Amino acid sequence: MGGFVRDALRGCPPDDVDLATSSIWTDTERVITEAGYPVEETGTAHGTVTAIIDGCRLEITTYRTDGTYSDGRHPDSVTFVSSIEDDLARRDFTMNAIAYRPERGLLDPYGGIDDLRRGIIRAVGEPLRRFDEDALRILRGCRFASQLGFAIDDATRFAMWKDKTKLMGLAPERLTVEMTKLLLGDHVHDTLMTCGDILAGFLPEIVAMEGFEQNSKYHIYDVWEHTAYVVQNAPATPLCRWTALFHDMGKPASAFTENGCRHFYNHPDLSVVIARGILKRLTLPHRLCEQILLLVRMHDVHIEPTDRSVKRALVRLDNDVDLMRALLDVKRADALSQEPHFGAVRLENVDALRKTLARVVEEQQAFRLTDLKISGHDLIEAGFPQGPEIGKVLREALDAVIDGKVENERAALLAFALDRRGA
Ligand code: ATP
Ligand code: MG
Repeated sequence: MGGFVRDALRGCPPDDVDLATSSIWTDTERVITEAGYPVEETGTAHGTVTAIIDGCRLEITTYRTDGTYSDGRHPDSVTFVSSIEDDLARRDFTMNAIAYRPERGLLDPYGGIDDLRRGIIRAVGEPLRRFDEDALRILRGCRFASQLGFAIDDATRFAMWKDKTKLMGLAPERLTVEMTKLLLGDHVHDTLMTCGDILAGFLPEIVAMEGFEQNSKYHIYDVWEHTAYVVQNAPATPLCRWTALFHDMGKPASAFTENGCRHFYNHPDLSVVIARGILKRLTLPHRLCEQILLLVRMHDVHIEPTDRSVKRALVRLDNDVDLMRALLDVKRADALSQEPHFGAVRLENVDALRKTLARVVEEQQAFRLTDLKISGHDLIEAGFPQGPEIGKVLREALDAVIDGKVENERAALLAFALDRRGA
């Protein structure tokens, strides 16, 4: 059903298997239990149970149609229906409204196979009505365009655009899931360029970026197109792609023009403010949000490829080597999306930083307090009183080690600490 048949027809492994049946869920559950397989009651209010067969989870749902989604979260009601045709009519896009029946083959009442073959995303039935029922379909349409590289049919696209502000009323968790999938898509640059006006229905912050010229020797694209390229060029992880989306959002507000050239001093700080506002409206995990904001803030900081600068950057990045690798990935994507001559210089810097980082890690050089060869305990033994001074002196000792002024060695560190005491 639905996504499973779509993915199978495209020759891709589906990520979930959905079955539809005319039997009510209690009967389905009984039959599967009698056959000796475990069943979970995963969504019985809308007719779904999940059977676990040879480790594979099969979602089995009674044929149904959905009512409206007035809270943007759950259908207000579901009505169980007796035919698969009626069930397919509630599906969002033609390519998702194809059923496979083991004995009779494919059932494709809306021309989904043809649309799949031609690479077209088309609403089932009357687009505006379908988006009024559930506005998430608008974002799902953009998400499929990004994942599959398909074009959106004109009438469907017009309705998406017309109904776009309904996206604001949706449950934040639904928006978050779909937008993350959109950002991870293989064709995300094209989708951001063609669907920016639609996404503005819940991300109005992007409008200021669209068409905002950079008038700078470092750039050949406006802020939005540059952003679309950086997202595309960044690795497909939520951390890198969300960071890429946000990294230059502060540019329009920070722009300053001098002799016809635009400068964007401190734009990352404004990007952070805007990104924080967007993240508050969504439901990405708290830790991920903090990491995204940290990378947005750091994306334009120049780091020399020396051991010392890399370790200093690591301290600013929560001592997190993976976070530093992600920062370098974003910097690389940023450089690839700039004027090629300047971009090449920045790419060289990123490559050198990668090598330095690898060496710092390989040689187990000290950049965390826990890497120091003395601890707070040692300082207490040496006569320091319990209290904040211990942490302060240890941080100073770490700085001195990073700067190469003190050996990371017990006696030298103790001498340094005693010297700093009360300073
Ligand atoms: P994926 O599994 O890749 O995220 P999918 O299309 O399979 O994409 P699911 O959430 O698994 O998405 O939904 C399974 C099927 O249910 C879809 O293929 C579609 O037929 C239908 N469907 C899902 N969400 C909606 C919706 N908001 N409106 C209408 N039909 C939907
Ligand atoms: Mg699916």
